[in-house]
Amino acid sequence: FSKRNGRNQFAFYFDDLKLETNKGILIDHELRQAIKNNDFTLNYQPKVDLKKNAVIGFEALVRWNNDKLGFVSPGIFIPYAEETGLIIPLSELIIEQACLDWIKLDRLGNGHLSIAINISSIHFHQENFIDSIQQILERNNCSPRNFELELTERTVMNNERETIRKLVLLKQLGFKLSIDDFGTGYSSLSYLVQFPLNYLKIDQSFIQLIGSLNEKQAVVDAIIQMAHRLHMEVIAEGVEQKEQVELLRNMGCDMIQGYYYSKPMPIREAIDYLEFWKLEIEGK
Ligand code: C2E
Ligand code: MG
Ligand code: MG
Ligand code: MG
Repeated sequence: FSKRNGRNQFAFYFDDLKLETNKGILIDHELRQAIKNNDFTLNYQPKVDLKKNAVIGFEALVRWNNDKLGFVSPGIFIPYAEETGLIIPLSELIIEQACLDWIKLDRLGNGHLSIAINISSIHFHQENFIDSIQQILERNNCSPRNFELELTERTVMNNERETIRKLVLLKQLGFKLSIDDFGTGYSSLSYLVQFPLNYLKIDQSFIQLIGSLNEKQAVVDAIIQMAHRLHMEVIAEGVEQKEQVELLRNMGCDMIQGYYYSKPMPIREAIDYLEFWKLEIEGK
């Protein structure tokens, strides 16, 4: 709305609002149906370990293609689901699907790979979050050891005592824990020190400019050093160019995720990608 100026700004405002509201109602309605029918799929993006020169796991990213709305990006529908509480049943579907897909990986001899699941703040702060995730894994004969949970800064900076208690418990159960989109929230570094986190994922907004902006490079470099001092490994997100890979490697970054290696893809293609990797990359 803020871009609208001039005499007609109120008319535009109300039209937009009505449109937005109608669209909101439609998304809400369609989301409910989609959850009933389990219309969601997961795409997987490889995480590449630079030192091992190997794919060490995948991040699961939810996809929703709706008859009326077309492809709706998770950046759009996850916030709606969070507002309406639909995020809880949606998250449960996602975790369940990630279990089924991990079993596929395992059957084909790739059980050493882990699947990272994005956890909504709303879900994480539910009282029974740990029970609910544990139940889904148990029901599917999956172990927390094969899963990583991605939590954003905003999620963990909320209700710190409760958060630490939950993170410690999750870690004890065997989950790996990541802080996602690092650098975009309002992290209190002192809390970060107390959290038992395995990985720090540097947000793509820092990565996209490291080639051209020295300041960004300095920030990324500092984040990597700090994370290592805190015994965390660093994952760079949104890496698209070879030049970025080389800069990050020189700065001691541990892992890379981004279009440079691969876009997120359906599980069958992700499994094929592992074969491609073995032949093309390790083979050389
Ligand atoms: P995220 O967890 O930070 O995921 C990374 C996003 O960056 C993904 O967008 C991914 O497709 C995109 N990406 C990966 N590599 C590149 C690259 O090289 N360049 C660019 N420009 N983008 C890249 P996506 O799938 O649209 O997801 C957006 C956000 O929606 C995610 O950010 C996450 O916060 C949320 N999300 C996605 N899937 C789930 C889910 O299953 N559950 C929950 N709770 N949130 C999810
Ligand atoms: Mg993520
Ligand atoms: Mg991220
Ligand atoms: Mg993000």
